[in-house]
Amino acid sequence: MAEQSNEGKIRLLKQKLAGCDNVVALTGAGISAESGVPTFRGQGGLWRQYRATDLATPEAFARDSRLVWEFYNWRREVLAPLHPNPGHLALAAMESRFAHFTLITQNIDGLHQAAGSRKMIELHGNIWWVRCSGCEKVIEDRRVPLPELPTCGACGALLRPHVVWFGEMLDPNILELVSQAIEACQVMMVIGTSGVVQPAASMGATARRRGAFVAEINLEPTPYTGAYDLSILGKSGEVLPFLVASG
Ligand SMILES: [Zn+2]
Repeated sequence: MAEQSNEGKIRLLKQKLAGCDNVVALTGAGISAESGVPTFRGQGGLWRQYRATDLATPEAFARDSRLVWEFYNWRREVLAPLHPNPGHLALAAMESRFAHFTLITQNIDGLHQAAGSRKMIELHGNIWWVRCSGCEKVIEDRRVPLPELPTCGACGALLRPHVVWFGEMLDPNILELVSQAIEACQVMMVIGTSGVVQPAASMGATARRRGAFVAEINLEPTPYTGAYDLSILGKSGEVLPFLVASG
C-alpha cells in the first residue's frame, strides 16, 4: 500500500467508523496534556523533591498518609480549573453515534466525564473519587482541598484516593469489561498513549488479532506504530473533531 497522507488516513478512519456499530477508544496522557494536565513523568515531573512514583504507592500511604494526601490535594488544585478539549468533546459525541461504544481511559483527571462521556472504563480510577481504607466504600468527593487526613463518613477509617497506585493490581472486574469490549469491537482508536504502560499497551494489538481495524492517533510515533492498521500523527483535539464532523 502506498504511503498515505495524514489527511487521507483521517478520511479512511472516518469511513471505517461510518461502516461499523461497535467501537472502542482507548485514551492516555496525550489527550489530557492538550488540556494542560501535567504528566508527572519525565522532566519537570517533580512535586517538591518527590517523583510521582515515590508518593503514588501503598507503601508511601502507609508510611506518611498526610504527605500523600497533600500531594493529591495539590494535584486536585492543579486539575480543578482545567477543561475538556475538543478531543474529549468529540469522544463524548461519539457515544451516541454507535450501537456499542466503549471509552477506556488511563487518565484519572475526570476530563472525559466533564466532557459528557458516560460509557467509560477508568482503568486507573479517578482522582475526584475516594475509597475507604476500612469499609472499602467508594464515593465521589470533589472538595479542593480535602481535609489533611479525610475520614469515612460511614466507619471513620482513613480515606484514600480511588486511583490505582504503582505496584497495585487493576480491578479484575474492570479488566473483564475491557476484554469483552476489545473482543467485540470492529474499530479501535488508540489515542494519546505512548504504548509503554501495561495492560493498555497491548490492547490495540489484541483488538487487531481479533479482527478489528486499529488506528493510533498520537503526536509522535510510538513503539506500536507500524503494528496497527493506521497511524495518524497529530493532536487528538484536532483529529477527533474531524471524525465526528458531518461531511
Ligand atoms: Zn468506611
